[in-house]
Amino acid sequence: MTTDSSPTMPASSSGPRPITPWLKTYRQLLRSSGTRAAELRAALLGLTIAAALQGLALACLLPLFSSVLPDPDWPAVWTWLAVMTALMGLATVARWRAQGFDFDGHMAAATHELRTRLGEQLRRMPLERLQDKRTGEVSSTLLGNVDENLNYLLTVVNLILGAIVTPLVAALATLFVDWRMGLILLLIFPTILPLYRWRRPIFARNMRRLAETHQRINGDILEYTQGLPVLRAARCAGERAASLQEGFEELRLVQSRAQRAGNRPKVLIASLVELGLLLVVAVGVTWAIAGTLDVAVLAALLVMVSRFAEPLANFVNYTAILELIETALERIEALLAIEPLPQRTPTAVPTEFDIAFSGVTFGYAQGDRPVIRDLDAELPARRMTALVGPSGSGKSTLTRLLMRHADPQRGTVAIGGVDVRAIPPETLNGLISVVFQDVYLFDDTVLANIRMARPDASDAEVEAAARAARCLDFIERLPQGWDTPLGDIGGRLSGGERQRISIARALLKQAPIVVLDEPTAALDTESERSVQEAIDALVRDKTVIVIAHRLSTIAGADAILVLEDGRLVEQGRHADLLAAGRRYRAMWNAQQRAKAWHLIETEPDRDTLPPTDSQTIPNSAASEPR
Ligand code: ATP
Repeated sequence: MTTDSSPTMPASSSGPRPITPWLKTYRQLLRSSGTRAAELRAALLGLTIAAALQGLALACLLPLFSSVLPDPDWPAVWTWLAVMTALMGLATVARWRAQGFDFDGHMAAATHELRTRLGEQLRRMPLERLQDKRTGEVSSTLLGNVDENLNYLLTVVNLILGAIVTPLVAALATLFVDWRMGLILLLIFPTILPLYRWRRPIFARNMRRLAETHQRINGDILEYTQGLPVLRAARCAGERAASLQEGFEELRLVQSRAQRAGNRPKVLIASLVELGLLLVVAVGVTWAIAGTLDVAVLAALLVMVSRFAEPLANFVNYTAILELIETALERIEALLAIEPLPQRTPTAVPTEFDIAFSGVTFGYAQGDRPVIRDLDAELPARRMTALVGPSGSGKSTLTRLLMRHADPQRGTVAIGGVDVRAIPPETLNGLISVVFQDVYLFDDTVLANIRMARPDASDAEVEAAARAARCLDFIERLPQGWDTPLGDIGGRLSGGERQRISIARALLKQAPIVVLDEPTAALDTESERSVQEAIDALVRDKTVIVIAHRLSTIAGADAILVLEDGRLVEQGRHADLLAAGRRYRAMWNAQQRAKAWHLIETEPDRDTLPPTDSQTIPNSAASEPR
C-alpha cells in the first residue's frame, strides 16, 4: 500500500507555503497582463456583472411564478418575462464583451508580451542565477506557466463567479419577496466559502506540489533526451531511465495524493449543497402547507436552487485550477523579480586589455562558502595566461567573474584598469570571446551559426573567419554547404568540426580577449591538430586566458597561475615553476607519471594511443612576436 510517508514521495521543494489571498492573485494577474491590464480588469468586472445579472434574472422567477399562480395576471406575467429576458440578455452581452478579451486577441497579446518580458529577463538576469535553474524548468515557466496563467483564466473565473455571485445575488433578491426564505438561502450557500477556506491550504499545497513535480519532470525529460548520447556512451542510459521512471512514479503518487486530499472535502461540500437544497424544500413545503408561504414562491425557489446546485457542488474543482494559476503566477513573478547586476556609473569602455583581479572573494549564491578567496592576479595584455589547478579550484569561476556572470562579494575585476561593473554589458560581451569544450550549435544554418558572433558581418567576413578556423573543407562537404541546417545534422559533426565552428565564431567576433576552456581536451589527435591550427589564428595578438588540465598544453604560456581551493598559490612561467619544486611541480610530475603508465599499458600503435599532448596552445613567445 502506498502511504503519504512513502520514501519516494517528493518533499515539496519549498514546503507548505502561505495561501495567496485572492486579492493578491488579482493584482499579480493584472501585473502579468502588462499593457492589457486595463482590458483584463474590464473583462473580470464584466464577468462579475454578468453573474450578478444572471442572479437577478433568476430572482425574477419569484414574481413571475406569483403572477402565474393561482390565477394568471397576464400583464404582470409579460412584464416579468420581459424583465427576465432583458436581464438575461444584458448578462449575455456583458459576458460576451468580457470574453472578447480572449476573442479580440488581448489574451494572445498579453501572453505574448509576458513571454517577451520573460525572454528579456533571461537576457538581463545574472547568468549565475540562470545556471542555477534547469533548462526544462525555465522553459516550462516560459511556456506552460504563461499559458496556464492566462489562457484558462476567464473560463475558470466565469465558472467560479457563476457558482458564487449568481446564487448570492438571487438570495439577496429573495429577501425582498420572502425574507425567511432569503435568509435560509443566504445561510446555506455562502457556508461553502468558510468550508472552502478551511480546506484550501490542503488543496493549495497539493496543487502546488503537483505543479512542482510536473516542472521537475519536465526538466528531467529534457535532460534525459539531450544527454542520451552521453548516457549511452557511459552505459547509464538504463539507470537514468529508471530514475526518470521514478519521477513518473512520484508524479503518480502526488496526483493520487492530491486527488485523495481533494476528494473528501469535495464530497463534503457537494453533500452540504444537496442537504441545503433539501432543507429549502423541506422548510418551504412545511411553510406552504402551514399557509405561511406562497406555493408560487416555493415553486420558483425550487427552480432556482436546483439551478444553483451543480455549479456550487463543482466550485472546489474550479478553484483547484485557480490554485494552478496562482502557482504559475508565483513562478513567473519570481523569475521577473531577479534583478540584473547593477551597472556602475559613469560607464567606461576600456582601451587596453590587460586584466586585473584585486582582492577578489566570491561565493556562489547556491554555495555555502567562498570559491575564490582574496585573490590578486594580473594578466598582461596580448599575452597568454594559463589557469591551472585541481578540479573545483576556481578556474572557470575566475573567467565567469571576468565575463560578469556574477559580481564578487569583495574586490574588483578590471579590464584595462576599468572595473567590469562600469563597462556596459553589451560592450563587455563584445570584448570577450570564449571557446568551450562543449560547443552549442543552434538550430539554424552553418552560416547563421557562425554569423551570430557578429550579426552585421558580411558573407565575405564570415567566410574568412571560417577559412581561418579551418572550417571550409567540411562545410563544403555538407549536403547544402553553408545553408545546411545544423539542427538536422549538428549531431553528425565531429567534435573537432563543432569546435572549429565555435572558433570561427570567436574569430569573427574579433574580441581582444579570448578565453579558451581547454577546447582540445576531448579531441583525438587528428582533430586536435586542425583545431589547434584554428586556435593559433584566433589567439594571435589577443589577451588569452587558457583553462588547462593537461599542463603540457600550456607549458609555453607567458604566465601560469596555479589555483588551489580558490587561492592563487603559485605563479610564473613553466620552467620557473618546475624549478621552484612546489605545487606546480607536483602536478606536472603526477601527469608525466600518468602518461608513462598509459604508454606502458597501451600497444605502441599510434591509432590506439590516448589523445596526446603533443600539440600545445601557442604562446606569444613561441609563436608570434608581439
Ligand atoms: P574544473 O577544473 O573541474 O572545471 P574549476 O577549477 O573550473 O573546476 P569551478 O568550476 O570554478 O572550478 O568551481 C569552483 C567551485 O565552485 C567548485 O567547488 C564548484 O562546485 C563550485 N561551483 C561552480 N559553479 C557553481 C554554481 N553555479 N553554484 C554553486 N557552486 C558552484
